[in-house]
Amino acid sequence: MSPDQPFSLEFFPPRDIAAQERLVRSAKQLLAVRPAYVSVTFGAGGSTRSGTADTVGMLQNLGCEVAPHLSCVGATRPMLREILDGYREQGISRLVALRGDMPSGMGGDPGELRYAADLVAFVREHYGDAFHIEVAAYPEMHPQAQGFDEDLGHFISKVRAGADGAITQYFFNPDAYFDLVDRVRAQGLDIPITPGIMPITNYTQLARFSNMCGAEIPRWIRLRLADYGDDRASIRAFGIDVISTMTEKLLAQGAPGVHFYTLNHADSVLAICANLRGD
Ligand code: FAD
Repeated sequence: MSPDQPFSLEFFPPRDIAAQERLVRSAKQLLAVRPAYVSVTFGAGGSTRSGTADTVGMLQNLGCEVAPHLSCVGATRPMLREILDGYREQGISRLVALRGDMPSGMGGDPGELRYAADLVAFVREHYGDAFHIEVAAYPEMHPQAQGFDEDLGHFISKVRAGADGAITQYFFNPDAYFDLVDRVRAQGLDIPITPGIMPITNYTQLARFSNMCGAEIPRWIRLRLADYGDDRASIRAFGIDVISTMTEKLLAQGAPGVHFYTLNHADSVLAICANLRGD
């Protein structure tokens, strides 16, 4: 990994004191490898809006640039203004703008802004260029999209609404990422598209996440992981090897950097970074 290929790290708000302590430990270890910025999820996995703001403040106090995620599902314009005004006061200048998902089983009000493109336009309308905005991209298509072309069209709307960059959903097939980049470039757009990288540490959890977000776990990886059963050390070693090789390939073939989904753990990301730097 070269200095002009920056990497970023994603954390989620902890739910209790023990998880908070784990996050602080992980963040301190990970900041030692100098990420360009870190991001904090919003409303994912049942976390609260204040959880994001608290975690953002904690990470700022550790001395790093922080990009809060913000989703518009279920929100009103005044609610979004209040959050964004707060971030301006906190000195935040980056955002990851998302639609988000309604909690499962709840019908409810989808909110005043329907899609991430509307949120990007809203931020630009009220805050001009005060925030650098990343949006989500899906190499294997968003699970609710009707088709690849339709999903690409919606991604392009986010770019045209004012997004500066995109971070992808995680994937294990680099060809899907390069295919997305080619399709976006064919539309005349040069927006940086940063691959989202999910370390492999726990097969059950990974299979659950992948089912929800539509990321395919290739058969050979599934079979190898199933073979290891409860042997966590072997799963971890295999995961570090597979993800280091994939990330190296992505960077060598032109990815502008990488964004690690840390799940608030440092070990695997540190090992992958060490491999990429040839330490
Ligand atoms: P959109 O870009 O709005 O797209 C959502 C769906 O609607 C797609 O199928 C798209 O094709 C379709 N669509 C878009 N515009 C239109 C239109 N005009 N008409 C019809 N259909 C349309 N979730 C969280 O809850 N919290 C987080 O912090 C979080 N962080 C994430 C970070 C990254 C990098 C990624 C990749 C995902 C993250 N997610 C998070 C998950 C994300 O919220 C979900 O994938 C959500 O279902 C879609 O959000 P989006 O911003 O991609 O939505």
